Amino acid sequence: MAIQRPKGTQDLLPGTVEQWQYLEETIRKVCRDYGYEEIRTPIFEATELFQRGVGQTTDIVKKEMYTFLDKGDRSMTLRPEGTASVCRAYVEDKLYGQSQPVKLYYSGPMFRYERPQSGRFRQFHQFGVEVLGADQPIVDAEVICLVWDLYQRLGLKGLEVHLNSVGCPTCRAAHREQLQRFLTTRKSELCQDCQERYERNPLRILDCKNPNCQAVTEGAPTTLDTLCDDCRSHFEKVLSLLSGAGVAYRVDPRLVRGLDYYTKTAFEVMVEEIGAQSAICGGGRYDGLVEEIGGPATPGIGFAMGLERVLAALQVQGKFPDPKPKLFAMLIALGDKAQNEGFTMMNALRGKGVPVRMDLLGRSLKAQLKAANREGAEFALILGEEELERQVLLLRDLNSGEQTEVPLSKAIEVIYMKHRRGV
Ligand SMILES: [Zn+2]
Ligand SMILES: [Zn+2]
Repeated sequence: MAIQRPKGTQDLLPGTVEQWQYLEETIRKVCRDYGYEEIRTPIFEATELFQRGVGQTTDIVKKEMYTFLDKGDRSMTLRPEGTASVCRAYVEDKLYGQSQPVKLYYSGPMFRYERPQSGRFRQFHQFGVEVLGADQPIVDAEVICLVWDLYQRLGLKGLEVHLNSVGCPTCRAAHREQLQRFLTTRKSELCQDCQERYERNPLRILDCKNPNCQAVTEGAPTTLDTLCDDCRSHFEKVLSLLSGAGVAYRVDPRLVRGLDYYTKTAFEVMVEEIGAQSAICGGGRYDGLVEEIGGPATPGIGFAMGLERVLAALQVQGKFPDPKPKLFAMLIALGDKAQNEGFTMMNALRGKGVPVRMDLLGRSLKAQLKAANREGAEFALILGEEELERQVLLLRDLNSGEQTEVPLSKAIEVIYMKHRRGV
């Protein structure tokens, strides 16, 4: 039996991969414009990094990690997300010693053991940014504007940023108490997960998708009700900056990220899809994370988006530019001697940056001309035995059909100049 690719993975083939390149190029351009630099971290890390940096109680760490022992009996994990690795690098590579803030982005494969039938992939791709070393609300606004701008440049419509403030450890303690008091008599009505969350992490109950839990928590105190003065003014400043930047947003007090190191701003970017909104980007501030993984106390904020998800939205909305023709000229050599001469010429042209190709299958003149047209070539360069005898090259303009002869000794220069004028 033929070997198949692992469940939940995909081959990105020519025809589709151009869409990925377009998305990745747009991402790079936006990041360059905003002054964010790329960081590339390993695909696998010590398991402990994700246990501490993503959180022991999260579904990712509890159920979805690709964890293995290496030959030295060390527990390693294929990275399920990017933030923990970036924070590790910030500490390990002493980026905190450079001028702050450090503005980074990453893009690459991530790995989670998920049920493939839910339309998710076990190897998927994420783009994200992280800003470390700045606690001002203008940073939160810039990060949100960056993702907003990216989606505008891609031409996505029907977008809305949902955001909330989950406060800081001080004001969240007050919220925790109020929320537990609110839920205390109806605790038994909550789902199994939320009953566990009640003691450990009650904030996450507000985020539960179970309709029963949503009914029970209706009217429950939100983090916005208990924000301290610092958290409140931070949140108000973020909102006013976003308004000024023309970002469409809505405050959603149920948007929470429940771990202790998440602070203040939490956000998602929603996209309108047939009758419903769904998230295509999630992020927020994590002023406690760098310390959690053993670094100096450092404010941080970032977001991540699944590229498969963004591409699906682009496909639904039909937003890809027409592919540009990649071929300038097809060199059609007929006969053995002409092939030798033509091959030398093709390589000289390629060395000058002119995209030229030759037939690789020994096809007829007619079939080669057809291929040249199909590939969108501007010119066919025809070299048969008779032309070789007369030391000329036939230059056929495939748009106008016009055909001229060029002396072989001048052919490279003439074609090179035509290509230069064209670009
Ligand atoms: Zn606070
Ligand atoms: Zn629940």
